Formats: sequence, structure tokens, C-alpha cells
Amino acid sequence: MSGTRINAVKGMHDLLPESAPLWQRIETTARRVFGLYGFEEIRTPLVEPTALFVRGIGEDTDVVGKEMYSFVDKGEEPLSLRPEGTASAVRAYVEHDRHTIDPIQKWFYYGPMFRRERPGKGRYRQFHQIGAELFGVADPRADIEMIAVVHRFLTEVGVSGVVLRMNSLGDADSRPAYREALVQYFTPHEERLGETDRQRLKTNPLRLLDSKDPAVVELAGRAPSTLDHLSPASAAHFQAVKDGLSALGVPFEVDPSIVRGLDYYTRTTFEFVATSGLGSQSTVAGGGRYDGMVAELGGPPTPAIGFALGVERLAMLLEVQAPAAKRGPDLFLGTHGEGDAVTLRALQLAETCRTAGLRVEVTLKPVGVGKQLQRANRVNARFAAVVGDGELQSGTIKLKELATGRETPVLLVDLPSALRGLLENVTP
Ligand code: ATP
Ligand code: MG
Repeated sequence: MSGTRINAVKGMHDLLPESAPLWQRIETTARRVFGLYGFEEIRTPLVEPTALFVRGIGEDTDVVGKEMYSFVDKGEEPLSLRPEGTASAVRAYVEHDRHTIDPIQKWFYYGPMFRRERPGKGRYRQFHQIGAELFGVADPRADIEMIAVVHRFLTEVGVSGVVLRMNSLGDADSRPAYREALVQYFTPHEERLGETDRQRLKTNPLRLLDSKDPAVVELAGRAPSTLDHLSPASAAHFQAVKDGLSALGVPFEVDPSIVRGLDYYTRTTFEFVATSGLGSQSTVAGGGRYDGMVAELGGPPTPAIGFALGVERLAMLLEVQAPAAKRGPDLFLGTHGEGDAVTLRALQLAETCRTAGLRVEVTLKPVGVGKQLQRANRVNARFAAVVGDGELQSGTIKLKELATGRETPVLLVDLPSALRGLLENVTP
């Protein structure tokens, strides 16, 4: 070998075929479940103007402050790989004047996100999110529906041991008082804060509650709770969300430490957290209400709520709890002998079966029948059959069920229907 290997970028991973069935199950379940609630799919670009994230997510956040892949395109426009999906969805809502069609828009998305974080278990530089946004509803019913759809998705995808934690951050009426309470609380401990957190105490004290610095985490644990500073309207909203979830049988815990890492949240915030299996990266999904962001990004004042789920973290849980079975071909079709007539007939038969919706792998190399059957087993085929001159003359072929070794002779012209019949009668 002459060339040196080039590996994938640190923190970015291939999804190999062995893992694909589980990811497909996650994606299919998500599309189906979000469809049940009327969420429609949106796909936005992977690259956006950097200003979108700076304004939408907030400059003081970890995501914008240190995790973005940003570059200046041909020396002109500052661009960034998207670190999350909400800012892009809001941009699209505003850019396409969606409120003129109907202020209520319910969107679902799936795709890769990029953050230049220190890679580790459950933490990557390219990762995937499933998310949803519900625009145009201030009523607590939107919060209830958003949380209920995530809960249903997690249930139907088959994961267990994931708990819902909720909090309310209050609104524009209660935020200044709470902010002041935080400044009062943290200021006497200022010398224990790192440089960034000391800065944040002045610019954005709420961010301290989300600090990953152990000394600050400890302090934050005893900080005043947002729940003690809610305006009457925010308190009533939070109560309605809790009542709605209880009525739907969605279990939750109230946890005042859920402030979330992004600046844009108001009122309800929530996380779905794995109780085991993910180590310190245990948050599978997070979300909340962001009533100010659409206006902040140039749209009409529009309340909204959304969530995002880390697919890698969910897949890690499911690999242990409910792994996906690999589905092999229905038929492996081999050939015996090297004549063109045999090869061409095998290719034709395979096509006929595929036209009938059957999954067929046909041998691609002139190797011995033994080798071909080894491959049939390796690819986990349900049935195998071998075409040779004898089969062409008799017009029949033997379908062998690999699990049992049982053979059934069938007419070549009947191969698709005979195979279909066997597949449906045979216990899987
Ligand atoms: P964390 O506290 O773990 O850094 P976050 O608050 O930055 O999470 P969000 O921006 O809310 O995460 O993203 C929602 C979900 O996306 C997270 O709960 C997680 O499952 C997933 N996620 C976020 N960052 C990463 C990453 N670097 N690698 C893998 N998954 C991630
Ligand atoms: Mg993070």
C-alpha cells in the first residue's frame, strides 16, 4: 500500500451499516410519531450567516462563544456550520413570512449539527438531532403537546429509564427581579468564579446556573430558584402545563436547575434525562419556550416552543435496551457453471423477484457454490437457490431455507410467487 490513511475529523463519525437499522428505526418512528400530531418536516441549510446564531442563541452561551465552526466565505461573509436547529427554523419562519399563511406552524426536523466541543462519550463535533418547533401559540396547550409528543416518541421507539424534568424561567416581567436576585447571590462569591463566569455575572447571570465549572455548579445548586420569582401569569402558565401533563399521564419532576444552555428560553424549559447508561452526558433531549426569538430575528412577535434530541445518545441507550435486528435478503441467488446463459438467467430471475418486491442478492463473481453459500449465510439470507444448466433444462429450482435446511422445488417461472408464499408461511 502506498498512500497513508486519512481518517475522519476528530469527533466526527461514520455510521456503519451495522448501526444503520437502529438509526433507521429511530428516524422512521420519529417521522411517524411527529406526523401523528401534525408536525411537518422542514430541512434548512447546514450553513447559515454567523449573525443568525449570535443574535438567536446569544453571544454569552457556550455554543456561540466557543463551540461554533465559523469561517469567512471568500473573505466576505461570516458563516457558521449550524450548531442547532431552532435559529434556522426561526429564520425560515421569518424569511418565508409563514405567519401570513398561518401563524401556527408545526415543524419537525432531523439532521447533523456541528459544535467544536471536546469529544467524549455522548459528545461529538458532528452529531444528529431530531427536533420540533411549534410557532404561534402562547397557550400552555402548546407546551403540553410539545412535551407529550417527545414523551410518546421515546415510548414508541422503545427506550426506558428516561425521566422528564421541567422548570419555568418566567417571562419578561419576572426576569429582571430574578436576575437581580442572582447577582445578589453570586456577588459575595465572586472570587470563586472563573474569568468567564465573572464576566457573565455582569452580562448574563442566568448563564452561571448552566456553568460546567464544579465550584460554580456547587454554588448554583443553592442559588435562588426561578420558581420563587415567577410573575402570576408565568406561575399560572406553569401550573396549566403541569395539570395538562398529569391529565395525559406523562410523568414529570419539577427541577429548578433546568435552565438550559441557550439564551432564548422563556417560561417552560424541560429535559429528558437518562437515569443510567450515558454517564455524565445523560441529557437525551431538551427544549423550552422561546417567546422572544421570532421578533428578535425580525419577525412579528410570535410565541414558540421547541425541543431537540441527541440521536447518538438515544442510539447508545437503544443499542443496549432494544437493538435492531439486521435484515438480510429474502433470497440469495447463486449460479453453478460459468455459461452466459446461466449468468443471464440468474440476473433476469433476480430482477423478476425484485419487481415483485422481494429482496434479492445475486452472486456477482464466478466462485464455487460453497463459497457462494458462505456469503448467503454471512448476509443472513432467508433462502438460497442455485441456478445451473440443469435448472435451465428442467425449468425448476430448489429454494433452500437456510435456518432449517429445508428444500422446496419450485418452477423457475413461479419463483417470485413461490418465494413470497414460503416467506409468508414460514415462521420468522
Ligand atoms: P450538554 O449540556 O450535554 O452540552 P446542550 O445543552 O448543549 O447539552 P442542546 O443544545 O440542548 O444541548 O441540544 C439538545 C440535545 O442535543 C442534547 O440534550 C444532547 O442530547 C444533544 N447534544 C448536544 N450537544 C451534543 C454533542 N456535542 N454531541 C452529541 N450530542 C449532543
Ligand atoms: Mg453543550
